[in-house]
Amino acid sequence: MTDLGMGLNDGGKRGSSSIDQQWIRVRARLRGEVGEAAYKSWLKPLTLAGYEDGVVQIAVHTRFMRDWVVAHFADLIKSLFAEENGNVHSVEFIVHDGKGSSLQEPNRPEPTLNGGTTEAVDPPLMSLQLEDYGAPLDPRYRFEDFVVGKPNELAYAASRRIADATTVQFNPLFLYGGVGLGKTHLMHAIAWHIRAKHPERQVLCMSAEKFMNHFIRALRFKDTVSFKDMFRSVDVLMIDDLQFISGKESTQEEFFHTFNALVDHNRQVIVSADKSPTDLEGMEERLRSRLGWGLVADIHPTTYELRLGILQAKAEQHPATPVPPKVLEYLAHKIVNNVRELEGALNRLIATAELVGREITLESTNELLHDVLRLSDRRVTIDEIQRKVAEHFNIRVADMHSARRARSVARPRQVAMYLSKQLTPRSLPEIGRKFGGRDHTTVIHAVRKVEELCSADRSFSEEVDLLKRMLQP
Ligand code: ADP
Ligand code: MG
Repeated sequence: MTDLGMGLNDGGKRGSSSIDQQWIRVRARLRGEVGEAAYKSWLKPLTLAGYEDGVVQIAVHTRFMRDWVVAHFADLIKSLFAEENGNVHSVEFIVHDGKGSSLQEPNRPEPTLNGGTTEAVDPPLMSLQLEDYGAPLDPRYRFEDFVVGKPNELAYAASRRIADATTVQFNPLFLYGGVGLGKTHLMHAIAWHIRAKHPERQVLCMSAEKFMNHFIRALRFKDTVSFKDMFRSVDVLMIDDLQFISGKESTQEEFFHTFNALVDHNRQVIVSADKSPTDLEGMEERLRSRLGWGLVADIHPTTYELRLGILQAKAEQHPATPVPPKVLEYLAHKIVNNVRELEGALNRLIATAELVGREITLESTNELLHDVLRLSDRRVTIDEIQRKVAEHFNIRVADMHSARRARSVARPRQVAMYLSKQLTPRSLPEIGRKFGGRDHTTVIHAVRKVEELCSADRSFSEEVDLLKRMLQP
């Protein structure tokens, strides 16, 4: 704490102490607030660059540092400064390389606390700093917001392990799965977690496309050396959607060398793609084989339960606009391909309900999501109806064909017959045959019975309605 001496002596006359003294006190308090490790990594290198009209300028060596400091400490620095000096109303961070020339790009307004800018401008390569390369992390993509189920449990567990560890785990972690199943979400979650828990570790997360673009630019500016240095200085490198560089040989070559260099130096590499390493077409054999050496974690297509879990979690984030459980179940049944679509549908429902101030119901859902739901339209078969109805009433599918007459199986069987009549073009005798060779009059009886029950019993009718909607748009 030796560098604090002079600032602390004039405790009573803060207003009149020099800005340098104030800065020293701010630094001392920052150190106390954020702890030694974060202070050393991020705040110690900051220098006071100027002060005018209530605006403090603080210099940062690199743009990466600046973005980090702005994102994590700007508010704290500003409020500490304002406590030291009531005239301070904003703090600006400027990039200065410490060699006497300012690297502040002329066209890029520097962020201030009153209105930070975050737009991405591709800087000339020479002044690129490490995490200028990376993608901005999506604040919604954190572990807490990731719903875990059978299809993604391995990918999730592996990602958590890597995020918590300070040594290399499996190298690389290869995450693969179809579109919209959470690969990018998990990668960002790893990055967020490491940033919070191990801020001294350098994490770089970018798409393979961006990797390629940087590589091409490095070639054009004849600056591949700093490109290589940059990538090889990270502790954790994540490359998303690696399939993008299929068929792009020199980018693959460069990636392969980067990859090997990192692995040799015990740095963690995480890669995602839409296919497994062996199925990545247009990739060099040695790269494909190398990618499979670590842990390959496959994210499977979602199950109904996972989809429902995701919908429930997202719906909970909007407590003011309740979504009936039936609607969530319905969506989970109907939108099966892609979590992004599922989320999109729910968001549309909620946003519309909020706007027009109307309750969400199955009817309004159907109306509003007509287009999305129609996409998943398909002809339903009697087999599917039997399966779905049996599942719903918790009986065996075999009981759809059996001669058992107990109410607990007869009623669901009648419902299935009714739905078969409603939803398929099959004739009454055909339907009868599908239900254990029953007569067509049995089917007519079933249809009448269900209609009767529906008009007498509201909840029964809703149940039948729900089944119908699950089976058909
Ligand atoms: P991918 O990169 O595999 O194409 P994303 O990670 O972009 O998919 O996921 C698509 C969307 O679905 C994102 O908004 C993401 O938050 C969401 N998502 C995917 N899987 C889950 C999950 N298990 N829990 C919560 N949200 C998820
Ligand atoms: Mg993705």
